[in-house]
Parts: sequence; structure tokens; C-alpha cells
Amino acid sequence: MKRRFLKKGVVFFTFIFIITILIFSTENKNKSLYTDKFINIIENNEEYNLDDSNIKFYKNKINNEIKNTIDNSILKKAYCSLGYIEFISGNYEKSNDYLLKSLNYKIMRKHKVQLMIYSGISRSYIALKNLDESYNYFKKAESLAKYMGNYNDLSSMYRSRAKTLINFNDGVGEAISLLEKALKLEQNEINKVENYLFISKLYMISDMFDLAVTYSNKAIEMAMENNFSRLVTEGLISLGTNYYSQDKYSRAITIYEKILYGDYIKTLENKLLVIGYLMDSYSKIEDYNKADKYMKEYLKEAKTLPIIKKNKELNWLYITVAEYKVRQGDIEESTKYLKEAKNIYERNEATMFSNTDIWMEKVELDIASKQSLDYIKVLNGYKQLLNKIEDRGIKSGIKDATIESIINISEKNNDYHTTLIYTNKKLDQIQRESNINLDTSADYSINKFENDIISKKVKNMKVRVKISSLIIISIVIIILIIYNKNKRIKKLNKELKLISMTDPLTGIFNKRFLYNQMEYNYKRRKEINFLMIDIDYFKLYNDNYGHLNGDNVLKEVAQILRTVFKDDIVSRYGGEEFSIISTSSREKIIEKTKELMTKLHNKNIIHEYSLISDRITLSIGIENMKICEENDIDKIIKAADEKLYNSKEHGRNRYTI
Ligand code: GH3
Ligand code: MG
Ligand code: MG
Repeated sequence: MKRRFLKKGVVFFTFIFIITILIFSTENKNKSLYTDKFINIIENNEEYNLDDSNIKFYKNKINNEIKNTIDNSILKKAYCSLGYIEFISGNYEKSNDYLLKSLNYKIMRKHKVQLMIYSGISRSYIALKNLDESYNYFKKAESLAKYMGNYNDLSSMYRSRAKTLINFNDGVGEAISLLEKALKLEQNEINKVENYLFISKLYMISDMFDLAVTYSNKAIEMAMENNFSRLVTEGLISLGTNYYSQDKYSRAITIYEKILYGDYIKTLENKLLVIGYLMDSYSKIEDYNKADKYMKEYLKEAKTLPIIKKNKELNWLYITVAEYKVRQGDIEESTKYLKEAKNIYERNEATMFSNTDIWMEKVELDIASKQSLDYIKVLNGYKQLLNKIEDRGIKSGIKDATIESIINISEKNNDYHTTLIYTNKKLDQIQRESNINLDTSADYSINKFENDIISKKVKNMKVRVKISSLIIISIVIIILIIYNKNKRIKKLNKELKLISMTDPLTGIFNKRFLYNQMEYNYKRRKEINFLMIDIDYFKLYNDNYGHLNGDNVLKEVAQILRTVFKDDIVSRYGGEEFSIISTSSREKIIEKTKELMTKLHNKNIIHEYSLISDRITLSIGIENMKICEENDIDKIIKAADEKLYNSKEHGRNRYTI
């Protein structure tokens, strides 16, 4: 009796126990329903397909699940999910916080989630510009994936890190070496071709065009072998773009026309891309008829797009056309197209390509500068635009183009001061770009070297030979790049120096060099004497003896200035005005000024029409000042000019201190 009762009791309690567990476990499941769903989404790389309302929905549900649980495993997954949600919403700091928080929860079967968390943290650190920490967590993820033997994950992890690095404008070199690693692990041929194309693009943005072409060709070859027609087209487009980026427009045109007329194009998007490049390339080689022809074709094709895409494409088209029309000198047409572009932009700002506002502003300024509107206004417009470009961190062509415009317009308006500043900026930029490339290629070869050493095949002598030849090739490439870049910079420097330093008539320095020297002095906070010198009644000389004789006088005066002020910087300020920068003492300067006037008097250059003398004479203003800031340059010139005016007022042929 007792035993039967006991038996019944055991059965009953076991039953209750099982029910409880069942209830508990289903409840547990329900408790993490949305968290689990989201983890699945991450696993399938589908989080970017969610729209805003979906994201909001998951965020709410997961936060609720966090509130209602104390289960470590749910909390870990939930915080990991929130971390991914914040990342796709662009809140990188929050994303990082959540992911780091999720690390604190220790659970049993953890690998899959742990891998997600490590990769997520690594990615968020890239966005936060903390590359060291990013690398640490990437290494953790890498070794975990290797430990799990999950090579597919590893390969896609490499690709994803490479993409993130590039999206946040960092580490082209590392991205390339990651993609190379991914290539080694990759089983899927389509992914391989995509990787080749990606690597090619990275080499292209690093200006390493030969390598870019090599990888485009690899992609094309493999895509053709496997009949991946979409990828063949992508490969050809990539090749064309490569030539376009090298300013080899005729070659680019050959390839794009082959694509267009060779039945390679499958999507309207690609068709537009190719036609757009053709239009732009033809305008660059100044074949404006062909450019116009492709413009019309582009218009025709774009009309069939759905409205939002259509507007986006047309906005791009009109800006590009406005840009080449102004280059062509057709202000009226250019203005017309720019207006069209603006109309579309104003109504659809949110759906346009990024930075189109900047391009439109640039074209507008180009038009204004072609129309010779108020120089200072246009110049300031360009300067503000450049600030905007720098604020947004845009590194591409528009920045160079804007600097180039400033140089051109200031040169045309004899504003050498500005020309000089922006020429230096341009040189800095070239220098910086070449540094980036060197890092990239160095990184690349070093990484490649490491990878191969780790590989077990090293025992094999043949492979060793391969590796060393690879290293040698990499080194040769690096040396060639350094050599070419340096040669380019040196040549550019030399040319710029020659054309920029001297005045062709008198052979002495010009105004541009003068400003350069002034800047040199203000950077060193030096005290200088500045002389402004003007020939008296020179107009009367020209009017009576002719301009050629006038020119000879200018040469002779310059020659005397050069001999008297041989330790100083003598330049032609403009017209019949000269200036001198000297760091000698004031007494010495006065002594030299007197010597100048005596020498000129003795030279006896006859000027019968001068109202104050029988020969050429000078009026001089001398100012002395410590140059501490940029403003002081204008100040000292103005002051010397006033003193020169004073000498003129008081009868000419004299100096004023
Ligand atoms: P002032 O004593 O007040 O300076 O009278 P000015 O006649 O020298 O001054 P103004 O500014 O009226 O005239 C300057 C002249 O210099 C006008 C122009 O004919 C002449 N000039 C300017 N550049 C050159 C040049 O490169 N070659 C020649 N031959 N003449 C020049
Ligand atoms: Mg004058
Ligand atoms: Mg004069």
C-alpha cells in the first residue's frame, strides 16, 4: 500500500517535473523569440535588408525580452542583436557599447554568438576610428573561426572586414590582403570573381593601375570560363573604369563601346553606367558631338526608369553635361542644364547621389568665373566650397578640381599670393597621395609574405622559390612606384619653380616669389625692411620714347637694383614698380638706398620729358616691421606704398622712411 502510494507519488512528481520543464522551456523560448529571430537574420547576413520600421520593431521586442529575463544566454544574444541593430542605424558608439556588454555574459555553447560579437566589435571599432582595438577583436574572431573549422565563415569574415575598412575610408592595404586571404579559402567560383573585382577596385583607388588591370583581367577570364555573363560585364566595366581613372579616355572609350555594342549588357543600370562614362570620356577628349550624342541616348534610356531612380540619374546627367558645356565655353547651355539639375535636386534632395550639391555649386562657380564676374566673390565661393569638401571628408576628384579652379582663376587675376598658397596645397596633396600608396603596397607585400610563411607548404622548396620571387616582385613594384611618384613630383616642382619665380622681362624675381619670401619670413617671425620703388613720370617716357625703349629702362633699373641690393631679394612688383625685401639693419638700408640713387644718377638715362629732372629718377618708400602673421604681409606692403606716395607728393626723386 505504502509502496504503491510512493510509486504513484514518484510518477506524479515526475509528471509535474516534466510539465514544468516543458512549460519553462517553451516559456524560455517565447522569452527570446525575437532575439533568436534576429540572431538568425545576422547569421544569414540579412540585416541590411530590413527597413526602418522592421528595425524599430525588433529593437522594441528585444528590449522587452531583456527586461523580462535574467537568463544569461538570452541577455548575451539580445545585447549582441542590439549591437548589430545600432550599427546598421549608424550609431556606432552605442553599437560598440552593446556588443562589449554582451561579452560579459558567459554561456555554455557559445561559439556562434561569440564569433558574431567579436566581428561586430571589430567592425564598430573601425567606424569609431580605433583601428588597434578593431584589429584585436578581429584576431579573436579569426582564431575562433579557425578553431571551429568554419572556413566559409572565415572567408566571408575577411571580405566583410575588407568592405568595412573601405566604407570607413581606411586601410586599403589591409583590405587587399584580407581579400587575398579570402580568395585562398573561397570555394565558390562566383565569390572568387567578385573578390578579384573588389581587389581590382582597391588597387584602382590606390592609383596602382597595372595591378588593378591585372585583377580585372583575372576576373574577366574566370567569369568567361564559367559563363558568368553578369560578371564578364562587370569585369569589362571595371577595366574601362580603370582606363578612365588614368585619364586614358580613348582606351576607355574602346572598351565601353565594345561593351555597349557587343551585347554584354544585361541590366539598364549597367547600360546607363556605360553610356554615362562614354559621354564623359568623349567630353574629356573634347569630342563634344559624340558627347552630345551619348547624352541624348542616356536621356532616352533613363526615361524608362522608375521615377525615383530616373530623377537620380537625370540629376547626375544634367550636372555632368553642365560641367562639360562650361568647359566647352557654352555658358548658355551650361546654365540651362545646371538649372534643370537644381530643379530635380530641390524636389528630391533625399534620393539623390551623395554630394551632388557640391558638384552643382562647383559648376555654378565655374560658370561665374567664365563670365568674369566679381573675382573676389567667385574666389571666396571656391574657398567656401573647398572648406565644405574638407568638412565632409571627401577625398575624390572634386577636391582636386576645386583647387585647380582656384589656381587658374587667381593666376588670371594676378593674385599670386592665392596662386602660391593653392599650388602648395596641390603639391601637398600629391605628396600625401603618394605616401598613401607606398603604405598600401608595403602593407600588401608584408602581409603577403606573412601569410605564405604561415602556410605549411613552406617546406617545399619550389614554394620557397615562388615566395621569394613574389617578394622580389613586390619590392620591385614598390621601388617603381616610389621612383615614378618622386620623378613626377620632382618634375612638377621644377616646372612650377621655373615658371613661378622670375619675371621674363627683367630676369629678377616676380611678385609671386616676393609673396613666397614674405611667407617664409612670417613663419620665422622675422623683422624685415621692405622697399617699394616706382619710376618717376614713366608714362611720359613711354609716350615719347616708345615702349621698347621703356622696356630697356626697366631692364637697366633692374640691373642697378640687383647690383646695389645684391644680398637682398629684388623683385618686380608690377609695371614700373619694384620691391626689395632685406633683413639688413635700417642704417645699412638707407646707405644702400642713397647708393642706388647715386648710381642711377651717374648712369644718366636721359628723360627729357620728366617734369623734375633731365634723367630717369625713382621715388621710394621704406617700411620696417616684424612679420608675425599673414596679415602683416599686406600691412607692410601698404605702409611702404603710402610712404612711396609721400615721396611722390613731396617732389619725387627721393625716399621716405
Ligand atoms: P608717377 O611718377 O606718378 O609714377 O608717374 P608714372 O607716369 O610713372 O605713373 P603711371 O602709373 O601713370 O604710369 C606708369 C606707366 O608705366 C604706364 C605704362 O605705360 C608704363 N609701364 C608699365 N609696365 C610697363 C612695361 O612692362 N613696359 C613698358 N615699356 N612700360 C610699362
Ligand atoms: Mg606706378
Ligand atoms: Mg611711376
